[in-house]
Amino acid sequence: VAAEPLVATLGSHSALQILKGARDEGLRNLVIGARGSEALYRRYPFVDQVLAVPSYGDFPSLEDELLERGAVVVPHGSFVAYLGREQNERMRVPYYGNKAVLRWEGDRDLQRSWLESAVVPVPREFASPDRVDVWPVMVKTHGAAGGSGYVLARSPASLDAQLARLGDVPYTIQHYVVGVTLYVHYFQSVVDNRLEILSMDRRYETDVDALGRLPHAVQAELEPSPSYVVVGNSPLVLRESMLETADAMGERVVAASRRLIDARGLWGPFCLETIITPDMAFHVIEISCRIVAGTNLYVNGSPYAALWFDQPMSTGRRIARELRLAAEEGRLAQVVDGSATTTKGLAP
Ligand code: AMP
Ligand code: AMP
Repeated sequence: VAAEPLVATLGSHSALQILKGARDEGLRNLVIGARGSEALYRRYPFVDQVLAVPSYGDFPSLEDELLERGAVVVPHGSFVAYLGREQNERMRVPYYGNKAVLRWEGDRDLQRSWLESAVVPVPREFASPDRVDVWPVMVKTHGAAGGSGYVLARSPASLDAQLARLGDVPYTIQHYVVGVTLYVHYFQSVVDNRLEILSMDRRYETDVDALGRLPHAVQAELEPSPSYVVVGNSPLVLRESMLETADAMGERVVAASRRLIDARGLWGPFCLETIITPDMAFHVIEISCRIVAGTNLYVNGSPYAALWFDQPMSTGRRIARELRLAAEEGRLAQVVDGSATTTKGLAP
């Protein structure tokens, strides 16, 4: 078993940040490109090796080679989107993070019960249209990705009309929280046994974030129904008086994962996607249990990472540091997941 892990990831989402972070920590790196994405990764001198496959679904054909070379796969937002949950679970190459979390994150009901168990405020949900007593509401069809396929209603009549238009698909009715979106990027370190807030961002979603530029009269005439397709991210810092609340929410989410999921629980990068209302309350709309793309703003560090580290520390580099230190201490098996045999193979 290689003493030093080879950091491997798929070529998209936040791969550049992950690969640069590995280089900055002195670890070898490798990226797997598909459908022509490999050209991008060949441009950068900090990328050690680029492998190309016809499609991401061909990932398993590379597993033996990756295993042999001591690779650790660092998952990001494309892993579940392109490979599906099951292929992530089946992966034999050591995987940074706890795979048991995937099921809890991927199922709306389990995710909500996790957040509720962590006493994290979540938007109210209504079992049926006639139970709604706070407006407006958002109807989220199950399986809708990236916020396309969400509709808004601000009265019982409009909700009925929207639901009739949807037809026979499963959906959730949720209170639509009007406030500022703020995404908190956490890192739970196993090696240092601590939770860090490394950065924050807000998403830029089209066209909902553009509607405010229309004068009210034009909006009224157009009756826009906003879409929530993310196209970018912008930086943000939080009022310092709210930082302790953000930290404490993260701590409770990690603690709840150890009660509900398994003893190891959640570790590595994760993100609470929040909306903040004028009473300065957080409303958590989702948890992402891996590096999120908003961290790409901070390849060179962030105001929050600078409070923890004297060097520029991105989330990608933070992952590489954790892997490097765990390997040096002979504890790599504690920070990766894999099939039983690979995990055993990595044990000191
Ligand atoms: P892509 O590599 O752009 O095709 O994105 C892969 C996955 O990550 C998709 O599910 C995207 O919705 C998600 N994603 C990509 N960029 C962002 C971003 N800036 N913020 C949030 N999600 C993103
Ligand atoms: P999601 O698919 O849950 O990440 O949601 C996509 C986008 O829809 C978010 O980034 C928000 O802009 C918006 N959104 C989702 N749920 C709510 C909610 N309960 N209240 C207000 N906006 C929401």
